Amino acid sequence: MIFNDVNFDTYLKNYPTEDGFFGKYGGAYIAPELKAAMQEISHAYNTICKSRKFIDELRRIRREFQGRPTPISHLQRLSDKIGTGVQLYAKREDLNHSGAHKLNHCMGEALLAKYMGKKKVIAETGAGQHGVALATAAAYFGLECDIYMGKVDIAKQAPNVARMKILGARVVEVTEGLQTLKEAVDAAFAAYAKEYKDAIYCIGSVLGPHPFPLMVRDFQSVVGIEAREQFLDMTGELPDAVVACVGGGSNAMGMFAGFLNDPVDIYGIEPLGRGTALGDHAASLKYGTEGIMHGFNSIMLKDENGEPAPVYSVASGLDYPSSGPEHAFLHDLGRVKYDVINDDETIDAFFTLSKLEGIIPAIESSHAVAYGIKLAQQMNKGSVLINLSGRGDKDMDYVIEKYGIR
Ligand SMILES: *Cc1c(COP(=O)(O)O)cnc(C)c1O
Repeated sequence: MIFNDVNFDTYLKNYPTEDGFFGKYGGAYIAPELKAAMQEISHAYNTICKSRKFIDELRRIRREFQGRPTPISHLQRLSDKIGTGVQLYAKREDLNHSGAHKLNHCMGEALLAKYMGKKKVIAETGAGQHGVALATAAAYFGLECDIYMGKVDIAKQAPNVARMKILGARVVEVTEGLQTLKEAVDAAFAAYAKEYKDAIYCIGSVLGPHPFPLMVRDFQSVVGIEAREQFLDMTGELPDAVVACVGGGSNAMGMFAGFLNDPVDIYGIEPLGRGTALGDHAASLKYGTEGIMHGFNSIMLKDENGEPAPVYSVASGLDYPSSGPEHAFLHDLGRVKYDVINDDETIDAFFTLSKLEGIIPAIESSHAVAYGIKLAQQMNKGSVLINLSGRGDKDMDYVIEKYGIR
């Protein structure tokens, strides 16, 4: 399929380019001392990860440890309730081990670390979800694991901090600046620049300098590849639309990778939070402009000084002031349509899916559920496949405190 001069038959092989560009987006805008480290990872990725041995081992791990393939569930009662005849389906990444899609790329990154002879994995975490997934992978492979986390986030996310420690990770408290995610990223990169001979950095989404947006997409594409095959098997056809929430964009890129070359409408859903004013949302593709942060060029939300703007979403996993460079590219091409869902619509979808289907979704994933419901209300036939990126157990206390039980 050729779309705006881009040939999607060969898209995944040709994008990103060798130096990490999706059109003008992506690249590696990093300090000179990190260049060698990124090149080492890039080289290892291009050789080791394409080897038969690596692929076989990763497949075995997915099957025996992660519980893949995760199923697709037909959301029968929800579809009946909407009543337009449109059928909703969910790809169940909530059933992936540790409760979300994040383990897909963490297992890939940690296996790569092992093959490269590294002893340690390093990462930052905000809400703690990436930290927990990486600590899980590190425990599995017997790697040391240093997770950098702002002091403010440590205080807010006590259960995830406990999980990381139980899994054997070292949680390093970051006390600079606002003591949240941005400072944690800086501290983790600084540590990595010193330790890269023994360690690799593991990014939590399709973000950061090349080769991370490529690697994370490839490790996550198992979601879309499985889903396409399962959906054909279940229904004899492809879905008419596919929907995923977009924070950094890893669960979405994984799902989309399976359908980019098909006659399927693809929707990436960003958080509109409390409203359209800067600071009240994290819809970077919808309201942002081109800019470089954290080592890559993409579309980002900026403050009056051109720095990353403060962002907000009810879903802590979606509050990032940019999105992966590949999303910026697919956005400009028009191959993927990006739209928004606000906090209230999200919480409604959270309770609706729980009550009608017996699935408590993560608040992040509830953005995609809400949009899937909207689409099904507007269409008069066909099917919509929602990527249910994670389960909502982690959100229980917050939802009950803020919204009560509905
Ligand atoms: C972290 C997280 C997200 C957002 O990350 P992406 O890279 O945009 O996928 C979405 N859903 C869940 C359940 C998460 O934990």
